[in-house]
Amino acid sequence: MPSSCTTAQCDSPGRRVASHQCRVTAHQAVNARYRYLRLQAEADLAGSTRPGQFYQLRCPQTSVLQPFLLRPMSVYGTGPDAGTVEFLYAVAGTGTLALATLAEGQSMEIVGPLGQGFTLDASARRVLLVARGVGLATMAPLVRQAAQAGLAIDVLLSARSPADAMADELLRGAPATVHAVFDSDGSSAVDRVEPLLAVLLAEGCDAVYTCGSERLALLLRRLLQPHPQVRAEVALEQRMACGMGVCLSCVRPFEREGHVALQRVCREGPVFPLREMLGGWHG
Ligand SMILES: Cc1cc2nc3c(=O)[nH]c(=O)nc-3n(C[C@H](O)[C@H](O)[C@H](O)COP(=O)(O)OP(=O)(O)OC[C@H]3O[C@@H](n4cnc5c(N)ncnc54)[C@H](O)[C@@H]3O)c2cc1C
Repeated sequence: MPSSCTTAQCDSPGRRVASHQCRVTAHQAVNARYRYLRLQAEADLAGSTRPGQFYQLRCPQTSVLQPFLLRPMSVYGTGPDAGTVEFLYAVAGTGTLALATLAEGQSMEIVGPLGQGFTLDASARRVLLVARGVGLATMAPLVRQAAQAGLAIDVLLSARSPADAMADELLRGAPATVHAVFDSDGSSAVDRVEPLLAVLLAEGCDAVYTCGSERLALLLRRLLQPHPQVRAEVALEQRMACGMGVCLSCVRPFEREGHVALQRVCREGPVFPLREMLGGWHG
């Protein structure tokens, strides 16, 4: 299967975006809402992809589903082979419905890796991850990286119900302390999560990472005010078209040094400093 490089007409001359023709090596339901997809490319995707980055997936055309734009998906995992990349996704609409029809052995095109990933400081000893829903797919490679670095990991996992939580899919064998909260019993409500997060922050951590819930991200940003030394990053999801910085459809405002700065989620993100995030923006 060839992996080719197409020149993206982006803002950084010489920076190219690679398109990879992949083979589907596994594709199955994880539960009623989520599916797991593993692809094999010829290029070294494991070596070039960082936690928090994403790919644009060309979903197949079927007789009833004709997705036009490529769909952005976080990297859920890479390896052990250099060409292996994994995704975990929820079926949402036309593109992901079509994606769900792909059978093992079929081929599909992906473009990437795209965007900026998470930063894990070499000096960190304990990290806190806060994930909601399919945000856990984005967090999984970071958990793996933190575990490989020998860090202590706390996870606050928020989901609609225990059936949706997928702690095993997030950790994939990595040691971590998981605090699960659910909509089904009310424990995921902000006023219930706030004291739990406050305690976890007070116990001390070097970095906090979050994905999947603006509500939780804004709560974290507020609770982090007395902890300016803690690195804090958020991976954002924003509707986007090209995924490589050209179309500007995913621009959103951030607060930077007292000013509003417009940033492309696909290019400057999807991972941003949490303290720069502004709430209430829906594009
Ligand atoms: C950086 C990034 C990483 C993501 N990672 C994952 C992941 O790991 N797992 C997962 O299940 N979902 C992820 N998403 C959301 C996923 O891209 C959308 O659920 C998917 O594009 C929906 O496409 P659809 O055709 O099925 O739905 P439709 O609603 O029919 O999509 C219509 C259009 O809107 C865009 N769109 C719709 N919802 C979103 C969204 N939430 N974010 C961005 N664009 C959207 C689509 O790209 C498409 O162009 C991610 C989104 C972004 C931006």
